[in-house]
Amino acid sequence: MTEHTRDDVAPAPLVVAVDGPSGSGKSSVSKAVARRLGAAYLDTGAMYRAVAWHCLNEGVDLADAEAVAAAAVAMDLDQSTDPDVEAVRVGGTDVTEAIRGPEVTDTVSTVAVVIPVREELHRRQRAVIAAAGRMVAEGRDITTVVAPDAHARVLLTASEAVRTARRSGQLAAAGETGVDAGTLHRQVAGRDARDATVSTFDRPADGVALVDSTELDFEQTVAAVLAAVEDQAGIPAVKGGRR
Ligand code: C5P
Repeated sequence: MTEHTRDDVAPAPLVVAVDGPSGSGKSSVSKAVARRLGAAYLDTGAMYRAVAWHCLNEGVDLADAEAVAAAAVAMDLDQSTDPDVEAVRVGGTDVTEAIRGPEVTDTVSTVAVVIPVREELHRRQRAVIAAAGRMVAEGRDITTVVAPDAHARVLLTASEAVRTARRSGQLAAAGETGVDAGTLHRQVAGRDARDATVSTFDRPADGVALVDSTELDFEQTVAAVLAAVEDQAGIPAVKGGRR
């Protein structure tokens, strides 16, 4: 008979779902929360971006929903779920940076509103979450569609002005300084409006905690999300690294 010690005890399964509009800070906040909980991290936006990149790369007509859906189903995707390693590969090509570029950002909503694309990515997302055991998954429809039974569910918001300013900061950090404030505001609002046709992320669904980060700094936002997790899942927010 095998003798079990404390170290043999696997950490309790924990699924944390985080949704929010663009610029709400959900990626960086979710990564920090995952580190604190010793959990893996799933960026579902990166999956939609990978589909957009794949379609552009293969010359798929974005107006042809059937062709876009077929490309999503056929896509060979390899994505890191380590919150400290950002890596996305499609068919063996490293697209980690390319999927953040303006071409993909401009087209991603077009592929994301194709319902069979969503169904395919939902299937993949649920499989990744089930295999992980402990995971923080973020996107637009995780709290409502992908993992409505998650142990903890949070909607992260911020005022439109703050979200536009954060997006501007991200672009500046990436060396993209050519976009004026008005254009950026239209881009952020336009993408949210298109995304809102297929997902509800402007208000929390029943049982979903709302964290408004408009007046919070990064650490305060992470603490607010961890408090919501503790409140809903009853799991103390453990300090320290992964596993
Ligand atoms: O989060 P991020 O801005 O990287 O997401 C990129 C795009 O992916 C969104 O604008 C949206 O079109 C799509 N998306 C989605 N559902 C999710 C996550 C992202 O439709 N759960």
